[in-house]
Amino acid sequence: MKIAIIGGSTAGLATGLRLSQGGHDVSIHERRSTSCVGGFGLLLTPSVRHGLMSLGLDVDRLGRPVEKFEIRDEKNQSILCRDLHLTKGVERSELQNILTSALDPQLLHQGNAFCHFESTVEGVANAAIFEDGSRVEADLFIGADGVRSRVRQQWNRGPDLRSVESVELVGIYRGEVPQELLGRALKIIPQAGGLAIGMVPTSDRSVVWYIQCDPRRWPQCLTDSEERARWLKALVGQFPEPVAQIIQGSDLSNVHLWRTTDRDLPETFHRGNVLLIGDAAHPLLTFTSQGTGSAIEDALAIGGLLDQNGNADIDSDHLQGILGEFSRVRKPILKARLYMGRRMQSQFLSHSSERQQLVPICS
Ligand SMILES: Cc1cc2nc3c(=O)[nH]c(=O)nc-3n(C[C@H](O)[C@H](O)[C@H](O)COP(=O)(O)OP(=O)(O)OC[C@H]3O[C@@H](n4cnc5c(N)ncnc54)[C@H](O)[C@@H]3O)c2cc1C
Repeated sequence: MKIAIIGGSTAGLATGLRLSQGGHDVSIHERRSTSCVGGFGLLLTPSVRHGLMSLGLDVDRLGRPVEKFEIRDEKNQSILCRDLHLTKGVERSELQNILTSALDPQLLHQGNAFCHFESTVEGVANAAIFEDGSRVEADLFIGADGVRSRVRQQWNRGPDLRSVESVELVGIYRGEVPQELLGRALKIIPQAGGLAIGMVPTSDRSVVWYIQCDPRRWPQCLTDSEERARWLKALVGQFPEPVAQIIQGSDLSNVHLWRTTDRDLPETFHRGNVLLIGDAAHPLLTFTSQGTGSAIEDALAIGGLLDQNGNADIDSDHLQGILGEFSRVRKPILKARLYMGRRMQSQFLSHSSERQQLVPICS
């Protein structure tokens, strides 16, 4: 089957790889002209690791092992310390690189943004039209173009994104990793609430850090990068080490402001022959750390469903059945994560004593 994937980040690359392994004629269309965007990162959990291994990737060479996750308050008192199993801190660019290098380079087309679909009166998409006027025909289109997906807005709108209630600043420190962060992800959650600072080692010489903020209480997080850098330098001085060393030692002009949001799940993730996956389909709040894992699971799920058909031609009714099954399989899992993220966010934003019971782990 001819499949065009729009968006070439985690969801698009993993799905492109999985479907090309299944023998489909795949193309991936990414608006950015290079595959590596920034060097922020994530905790690679055993389930994400397992997903990547199912794609035939050698995950052992990725990132740095993280054996413990600890939460402390602003006075450096330990609130919780948990052993982590088979978990690694990984830079996002490393993950993208390993996915890209496993793909046939001819499948990936970069530097051209999707604009809209050309469709029949019956509502079947015939071709995707791109910014430079080019036209890509396919039997199945997959929208993997992220949280503010154009494919979704153009074709399968569903519930709107919810308003942004918490934001996250993400940055990277490059230098010697302090002793306290060797094999350990650390998170500082001050008693006053509305703010949390996390640090994850991603190599022997890098630490990804993130600051979760309630923007109503900390409007400085939304200011321009110079003012925000001044605020961050002063803020982190009030926290125990290694917070100041990591954040003041980072390039504060290269901090990603992430306006975190989600949306209610739609009835189905497809309309006609256009399927949404990853953040385009089901954006999740960062508190659950499940964005990357969910994107890779989507890739494996659609790959498995299409495999069941073998190499036979798939008619339109059959394709509807397969895409409907994708929603039936994925929705219960994603719904649980969606609600978990909302619960964690509301505890993070509240002043209640319940706040500490469910703690966000990592971005
Ligand atoms: C800049 C950035 C930084 C991030 N940092 C982190 C982080 O530090 N930690 C973390 O856990 N998660 C991070 N995420 C989110 C994480 O990558 C996702 O939750 C998860 O990987 C799901 O990925 P996705 O492929 O569905 O969406 P995304 O990763 O958002 O990818 C969507 C892709 O679609 C492309 N695209 C968008 N519009 C179009 C269009 N019109 N035509 C063609 N292509 C288009 C985008 O350029 C992008 O490459 C980040 C996302 C981005 C975009």
